[in-house]
Formats: sequence, structure tokens, C-alpha cells
Amino acid sequence: MPSRSSCVSTGLASEPHLPETARVNVEIINTGSELMLGRVLNTHQQWLCRRLADLGHVVTRQVAIADNARDIQNAAREALARADLVITTGGLGPTSDDLTRELMAELLGRQLVKNDRIRAHIEERFAKRGWTRPPATDVETLVPEGALFFLNAHGTAPGLAMKIENNAGPTAAGAKWLIMLPGPPRELRPMFDDQIGPWLKREIKSGIFVCRTLRSTGIGESRVQEFVQTDLHPLVQRGLEIGYCARPGAVDVRLTAGGSEAAKLVAEGEAVVARILGASIFGKDDDELEAVVVELFRRKGKTLALAESCTGGEIASRITNVPGASEIFLGGVVSYANSAKEQLLGVSADLWQQHGAVSEAVAQAMAVGARTRLGADFAVAVTGIAGPGGGTPEKPVGTVYIALASAQVVEARRFLNIWDRHTFKQVTATQALEWLRRMVSA
Ligand code: ATP
Repeated sequence: MPSRSSCVSTGLASEPHLPETARVNVEIINTGSELMLGRVLNTHQQWLCRRLADLGHVVTRQVAIADNARDIQNAAREALARADLVITTGGLGPTSDDLTRELMAELLGRQLVKNDRIRAHIEERFAKRGWTRPPATDVETLVPEGALFFLNAHGTAPGLAMKIENNAGPTAAGAKWLIMLPGPPRELRPMFDDQIGPWLKREIKSGIFVCRTLRSTGIGESRVQEFVQTDLHPLVQRGLEIGYCARPGAVDVRLTAGGSEAAKLVAEGEAVVARILGASIFGKDDDELEAVVVELFRRKGKTLALAESCTGGEIASRITNVPGASEIFLGGVVSYANSAKEQLLGVSADLWQQHGAVSEAVAQAMAVGARTRLGADFAVAVTGIAGPGGGTPEKPVGTVYIALASAQVVEARRFLNIWDRHTFKQVTATQALEWLRRMVSA
């Protein structure tokens, strides 16, 4: 079973299942040997695709390349032969493995020209910190003839954009563009958001592209598809694309469409999915379950306490990832050993001796202990067997009891979460958060 998210798309259109309207052909080339050695996760790929999709451009191809001059140049040559917009990342810095600027200038037959504005920007950056500018940064002041440059607010290497006239592209001037962005995410992201994105909006006309993701939990991926696909079929025939993305304990349904009907099609699709999945939908687009829970608690003026055993603080971690969690979250106890359950939560030894530490009775006692000791309106407790050892025929590996306590009720539910330990914790935390969401919104 997958421990990470897995996504599939379906629709009537033939591969690659992307809306036909985003007709600007965009390709991304991520450079860096560290990516190919598995030392760094290629986050630019996901981040840039997302940002570009928000601008109405669906990336058609992405490739990662080691810092090898011939490979980088070949990749760019091939991409430029196909695409209207090619974006490279990395390799703009001052070290010997930073090759992109020179390689692209050479590929497109442009001279590199010193740029005083960039030099002043870099010098100012060093001066502010009381440092001398290293001579190696000279290379960052070079701009291919005729290229635009975007000063780097969080580093030294500027972004660069080279226009390639071909009178056939969809851009304002009928040209293709090659954009080069710096590698470090903390430099690339603000540069894209503050400068490149607005510039792309002006320069490159996109088709209309609408995307809506509905986030659900409690139903498996195949079941979600089974439930919604028949009713969505007429919309799919009119051009709606559906994608399913399974995450630990949750499934996203993504609805996309292009063209003048896009907003209408997506809205109709959303209504269908909302009607069928109903309360299983906890949010839209970037909504996280924990943020929804925190907001619900905040709106209702309620407080929360936690008692976690097998999740080891996962629920508390997710809750405290949400800004403003302190308004509603009083605290949590990670009571892994029975003695901790007894000392910190007041779970009597009789209970775990009689029922076992993984039991309805202990889960309930943990929840009551957390709620009363921390003085919260609600408490959730989890106790379970993450595995790989510790299972019995009655309580196999994956067995979890989640209990919820409020002033009115104390209730426990049994789940069977057969996953690797990490996914087990994520899925169990999601189940606990989902129960809280339903309880508080009821
Ligand atoms: P620098 O001035 O730091 O040399 P650069 O533009 O030359 O910047 P690289 O040297 O290619 O960029 O990358 C710098 C660092 O940025 C890498 O070590 C890596 O940590 C991070 N990075 C590069 N590419 C990616 C990527 N695709 N995804 C996530 N991080 C990346």
C-alpha cells in the first residue's frame, strides 16, 4: 500500500489528460547534480507547476539534469524546439558547477555582457553585511545580450529571461522565452511571485484554466471514484477533467476545465461532488484538516486537549502547525508507557491490566484524563498497535482506539490502520482530527 500520496486523472480526453486550453507549451528544466544524487528533493518541480497552473499554464514536460554542460545544453535545445516557454532552475551561482547562464548564452549565440545595475545590487548586499564582495560573484553580473534580468531580493544571482524571436509563438510579440531562475527555493519563490509571475501575466497570454480540488476523508480512493464518476460523466463529456489524489487518510478530487465554459463546468462538477460526498468533504484547494479544526474550535470558542500514545504527538504537531492554534489548543500528553498513562492521565492500572493498553476502556480513560487535567472542552485520545510487532488475533497490528471526551459524552471507536509506522501515525491523526471536526461542527 502506498505510504505517500498517489494521484490519477481520468477523463474522456486522450493522454495527457490536461485541459486543451492551456495552449502555451511550457517546459521546466531543473538542473543540479544534488537532485540526481537524491540529496535534495526537487521541490521546484511541484512549486513551479502549481504557480504556473494558477496562471493558466499547464506544464507539459519537466526534466531534471545533473550539472553536466552537454546534457543541460541538449535538454534546453530539445525543450526550445518544442515549447513556447522554457524555465530552467539552478546553476546561476558563482561556483564552478553553476553553468546555466553561459550554456544558454552559447546555445542561443548571445554574448555575455557585464551589467552595472546587477553589480551594484550585489555590492550593496555584501556591504550591508559588512562583507567584501567575493570576485567569484563577477559571473553573476553577466547578462546574455538582450536578456531581461530580475534582481534577486534574497540572494545575488539575478533571474534572466531571453526572448527568442520566431514569430510563431503565442506570446505578445510572437516569440518564445527562456527563463532562468536561481536554485535556492528561498530565492526562486519570492522572485517568481514578485517579479516573474506578474511579468508572465503581461507577456504570455494563457488560455482560461479553472481548477478546484475538493478534499475528503473517511472514504478510500476507489470508493470515492465509484461514488462520483457516474454523475460526473455528462460533465466529463463536456470537457471536465477529474483527478483523484490519495493521501494518508484523505482523498482529493480535482476538477479542471479549460475554455470559456471552464468556470461553469467546474462549478457544476463541484456541486455534484459536494452532493455525493457531503460531510466527508472537509475543505477545498489548500485547506488542511487541522486548520479547519482549529478554525471551527476558534469560531465556537472551544478548547482542545490531547492524549496520544501510538501517534507520538503527531496530532499535536499538526494542530500546532496552524497559526493561531494557541487560541484553542491547551496541550497534549504523549503517554507512551502504561506508567505515563497512569501518572500523567490518571488511567488506573486496573484498566490496562484488565483490558490491555490498546482498548476502548483505556482510550476513554486517557481522553477523560486529558480533558479534566487540562481543563479543556474536548479531548481526543489515541492508543493503538503501530507494528510491526505486538499484534494478537483479537487485536492485530494496525488496531487503534480513538476516544473523544466532552462534558456530555465519552466515546471510543475502533479502527484498523494497516500501514507502515509513519503512515499509520498520519492516518490515525487524520481520523482523530476528522472526528473532532464532525463533533464540533455538529
Ligand atoms: P547558488 O548561488 O546557491 O549556487 P544557483 O542558482 O547556482 O544558486 P544551485 O547551485 O543549482 O543554484 O542550487 C543551490 C541550492 O538550491 C541547492 O544546493 C539546493 O539546496 C537548492 N535547489 C536547487 N535546485 C533545487 C530544486 N529543484 N528543488 C529544491 N531545491 C533546489
